Amino acid sequence: MSHSIVFSESGSPDVLRLAPAQVGQPAAGEVRLRHTAIGVNFIDIYQRSGLYPLPLPSGLGSEAAGVVEAVGEGVDWLRSGDRVAYAGGPLGAYSSQRLISAQHLVKLPDEIGDETAACAMLQGMTVEYLVQRTYPVQPGQTVLWHAAAGGVGQIALQWLTAMGAKVIATVGSAAKAEIARALGAAHVINYGEEDVVARVRDITGGKGVPVVYDSVGKDTFQISLSCLAPRGMMVSFGNASGPVPALSPLELTKHGSLFLTRPKLGDYTASREELEASTQALFARLADGRIRVTPSHRYPLAEAAQAHRDLEARRTTGSVILLP
Ligand code: NDP
Repeated sequence: MSHSIVFSESGSPDVLRLAPAQVGQPAAGEVRLRHTAIGVNFIDIYQRSGLYPLPLPSGLGSEAAGVVEAVGEGVDWLRSGDRVAYAGGPLGAYSSQRLISAQHLVKLPDEIGDETAACAMLQGMTVEYLVQRTYPVQPGQTVLWHAAAGGVGQIALQWLTAMGAKVIATVGSAAKAEIARALGAAHVINYGEEDVVARVRDITGGKGVPVVYDSVGKDTFQISLSCLAPRGMMVSFGNASGPVPALSPLELTKHGSLFLTRPKLGDYTASREELEASTQALFARLADGRIRVTPSHRYPLAEAAQAHRDLEARRTTGSVILLP
């Protein structure tokens, strides 16, 4: 019997429950997958809590790796037994089996394991588009990355360091500072204890950084603006501490003609070409060891609620997966 996590009202992790599911035959263009590893991402929390409202009842989860069990009409590039992964498409990755349109899938190379794929697809493609396409970071540049010991953060540290950039990493604890240092951070700031703006000004000789990648949101937004050099770019890509309040464009002049963008992965992987280019860039770095990703935390699918509690309470580092 197949199972999936569902919820019928938004709220705390307690709303998540495991339910039996009937997964039928794939329709034209679809594939039936048996999941082997499922990615847990902060967006799952926004969707469960109601910050990003969903029609309910709903499944949850945007990312998984698995094995093709059956293909629908017209899917000629996949066959039963193929190893695949995805990050995007309709929710429902928190399940042991599912139907999904083949357009969301990529084949996994032999050298990339299922758990690595479930950790890295969504978070790694996010890093790819943020550092290569939202603000193309150049070798030698010093950039600021918040929550650098988290899932996206750990991949970003490795990616940026491998391309010759210097990362000022912020973290919420001494243990997380050690992780950031080990992954190549040039400077680490514990933003619970230190004055981030003063440290960044000091590190950059008063100039500020050309780009800040901020997924913490409410608590760091103003700090991030103050860390930028004139004409720098504020990349606000998440709300882990809560959504950023409305601001007037005039605020961007206070720090020197800043740019502000609020990007999301789906807009950078909307076409098949972009999806494939992003995954190829990620897979190349995973295959040659420039980026290493293994799950820091594994939970049975039935314990998805506990995974959410730990991620929300800042108890996790790196990537979190569920095992069906
Ligand atoms: P993380 O593993 O990074 O977990 C979030 C981290 O944020 C925590 O570990 C914590 O690190 C930090 N944090 C700071 N303040 C809070 C708070 N009040 N509550 C909870 N956490 C806090 O999660 P992910 O790697 O899954 O995602 C990282 C961010 O990137 C999220 O905001 C997510 O929404 C965003 N994202 C955006 C995408 C996009 O395309 N726009 C795509 C993918 C992810 P510490 O203790 O060190 O402060």
